[in-house]
Amino acid sequence: MAEQRGRSAYNVSNALQRVAITGGTHGNELNGVFLVKEFQRNAQELKERYPSFEIELHLTNAAAIAVNRRYVDEDLNRCFMAGDLADDAKLATLERVRARELDALLGPKGSETPRTDFIIDLHNSTSNTGVTICCHPNDQFALQVAAHLITRYAPQVEVQACPPISIALWGKEEAPFLPSISRSGITFEVGPVSHGTVVASLYQHTKDMVFEILSYLQVHSSFFTSGSPTAQQYQQKRVEIPVFVRYANVGYPRFAASGEVKGFISPQLQGIRELAGGPALPLDTVVFVDEASSLTLADVLFPESIEAKQALNCLVSFAAATGEQPQHTAALELFALFVNEAAYWEKDVAFVVTTKRLVAVDILYLI
Ligand SMILES: [Zn+2]
Repeated sequence: MAEQRGRSAYNVSNALQRVAITGGTHGNELNGVFLVKEFQRNAQELKERYPSFEIELHLTNAAAIAVNRRYVDEDLNRCFMAGDLADDAKLATLERVRARELDALLGPKGSETPRTDFIIDLHNSTSNTGVTICCHPNDQFALQVAAHLITRYAPQVEVQACPPISIALWGKEEAPFLPSISRSGITFEVGPVSHGTVVASLYQHTKDMVFEILSYLQVHSSFFTSGSPTAQQYQQKRVEIPVFVRYANVGYPRFAASGEVKGFISPQLQGIRELAGGPALPLDTVVFVDEASSLTLADVLFPESIEAKQALNCLVSFAAATGEQPQHTAALELFALFVNEAAYWEKDVAFVVTTKRLVAVDILYLI
């Protein structure tokens, strides 16, 4: 039910009316906080530069920003499930109350006519994510925006003038994230940035890319306005882009008796470039080390397996289980995401394993 409502809400086939840029959904991720403040200081300029739609600028968790913490009571960016937003019994925390306010301001979630057509929610990660755009797999418009960004910045990425750009898909089920209350939207993640700090280069790249996204949204809006010259200047073009799909969350190794963490991210994995910017990880990659031993990727993904061959067979089974065309294991490369992400220690996620696949997306392209 919720997924169906979400799916219809993701359809953006015409002009956009209102776009929101949000920061501080996690109060200690200062990249977005300071960028939204800068945009607020220059709101008039922004309005003149992008006249096709209204742009709203919101610091979404002011209480958490004030104390320079991810959240006050609980993670705001997990509070946007439709059922929770409608449940009065869930209003016990500061973030639940705030989620409902934001849903009224920018949603409501699942509505055919939400107040905002697109949300860019600005985050940063302590891991080496480069620029990672996260969105719902059914959100074709968000995929289009992300595909445009990848295409547009490919030359700069090539010469390392900007960080690699990746797309990480949320799960197919309903998402609890802020951008899901809008018609379409993305979580814009950049890293590595320590909590409570700003990295100037990534801040500047984020600003440039937000402008590029707004320009694309403006082209999209004009393209669907009859009589607009944009319709003569642009055409739709199909591009194939890589997307990364979550395969497994990997928790830290722990002592059986006490439950205390006993193994840490290995030097081989620490700081590795993630997703599109990084290498595919062989199954014999050492991912954890402790005082006496080490664990490989195969060990943590397939603890019941002793032989790597068995692990490879598991990957083939996974391909079959997901209903994809039978493919040999080379097509199921594994990539790391959120390695040693500081905010995920409390969630017991040491890193996320993803697989890469290609999707076809129609983007607007200057003739
Ligand atoms: Zn965040």
